[in-house]
Amino acid sequence: MAASLLPVAASSVEAGDPLLAYGARIVGDDARTRIVIDFDREPRFSVHYIANPERIVVDLPATAFGFPAKDLAARGLFKDIRYGKMDEESARIVLTTAGPVKLALAKVQADEAGKGHRLVLDAEMIDKRAFAELVKTQSWSDRGDAAQTTSAIPAPEKAAPGDFVIAVDAGHGGIDTGAIGVDTKTEEKQVTLAFAKALTERLNKEPGIKAFLTREDDEFLSLSQRVLIARQNHAGLFISLHADTLKQKDIRGATVYTISDKASDKLAADLAERENLSDQIAGKETVAEPPEVADILLDLTRRETQAFSISLAESVLNSFKDQVGTINNPHRHAGFRVLQAPDVPSILLEIGFLSNAEDEKLLLDEAWRGKIAGLLTDAVKRYRAAVMANGG
Ligand SMILES: [Zn+2]
Repeated sequence: MAASLLPVAASSVEAGDPLLAYGARIVGDDARTRIVIDFDREPRFSVHYIANPERIVVDLPATAFGFPAKDLAARGLFKDIRYGKMDEESARIVLTTAGPVKLALAKVQADEAGKGHRLVLDAEMIDKRAFAELVKTQSWSDRGDAAQTTSAIPAPEKAAPGDFVIAVDAGHGGIDTGAIGVDTKTEEKQVTLAFAKALTERLNKEPGIKAFLTREDDEFLSLSQRVLIARQNHAGLFISLHADTLKQKDIRGATVYTISDKASDKLAADLAERENLSDQIAGKETVAEPPEVADILLDLTRRETQAFSISLAESVLNSFKDQVGTINNPHRHAGFRVLQAPDVPSILLEIGFLSNAEDEKLLLDEAWRGKIAGLLTDAVKRYRAAVMANGG
C-alpha cells in the first residue's frame, strides 16, 4: 500500500493541496520512543503539551494521511496515537503518553533521495514537575487554536420566522473517527455523516421545518462547539447521531439517550464516558466546568428542556415500533456532554451498533438510511404537534 502512495512530482502539487504523509514508523521502548513520518513536502509543524492525561499535540497544515494505520500503532511511551483532519486548513497528531514525556527532538529532515521530508519525533521520559513546567511555559500563540474560534458557524438556509429549526449532529469527525466496524472496518464518523445528511434532507421536505448539519464534512468539532452551533442558530431541537461499538457483539438495535446527572445503567454510563472522551482524543484541553450557579430560572429552563427531550425520545421510539429493532429498555439516560444545552431539547440516537455484523450491514444500506430518516421525521412532526397543542 505504501508503495502506491509515493510522493507526487513537485510540479503537480497545487499550492492549496494538502500535504501527503505517505509513510510512518515507530520504534523504541518505554524509556525512549521515536516516530518518523514521511511527507511529500516540507511540513510546518508545532508541538504542544497537554496535561490530564499527558498528551503531546503536533499541529500540521492540511494533511492527507496515506499510510496504513498499523505502521503507527501505539507502542513504547505512547499508549494511544491519533491523527487526522481538524478543519480545512489543519491536521493534528495526538500522542497520548503513559506518563510525563517530552520531545527531546522534533525536526524535519530532507530524506536521502531528496524526494521528500521526514518529521522525526524523539520522545523521552521526564519527571512530573518538568512536564508541568513544559505545560505552563509553552505558548499557543503561534496558531489560533487556543482561542478555539468558532468562526464558521453554519447557518440554516432561509429559516423563516416561525420555522422549526433542527440541528442534526453527525457524531465524531476528523481526528475522532468514533467506533470502527467489526466486518468492514467502517468508521462511525462516516456512518453518522451519511445518516445526518439523509435526515436533514428528509426533514427539509416538510413545510415549516428547517434542518441543518452541525458539520457538513469530515472535520472535528468539539462537544461544546456542537452545542454552541445549535444554540447560536436558535435550534428548537438537537439530534446527535451515533453508531458505536459494544463489547457484547450480540447486542444490536437502536437506543435513544437523553441527558441526566445519574446514568440509567452501566451500558449508558460507559457509553457517555466514551463519547465524552472526544475532545481529549483530539488534543483539546479539558476546560474546568464552571461552578453550577444557583439560578432558579436556569434550573427551570433545564427541567422544562429535559421534559421536552424525554417526550421527543418517546416519540422516536413510537415511530420505531415494529419498524426498527431496538435494544432492551431502548430509552436510557446518562451525562452526555453533547446533550448539555440548557434550552435546546436534545437526544442522542444510537442507530445501531458497529460491533454487530448485522447492524453494520444495515448501517451501510442507503435504503435503510432513508427508512430511518422517514421515521425520525414522523417522530419530529408528532413531537411538534404535541408541543403546539400544549401551547409551547
Ligand atoms: Zn459515537
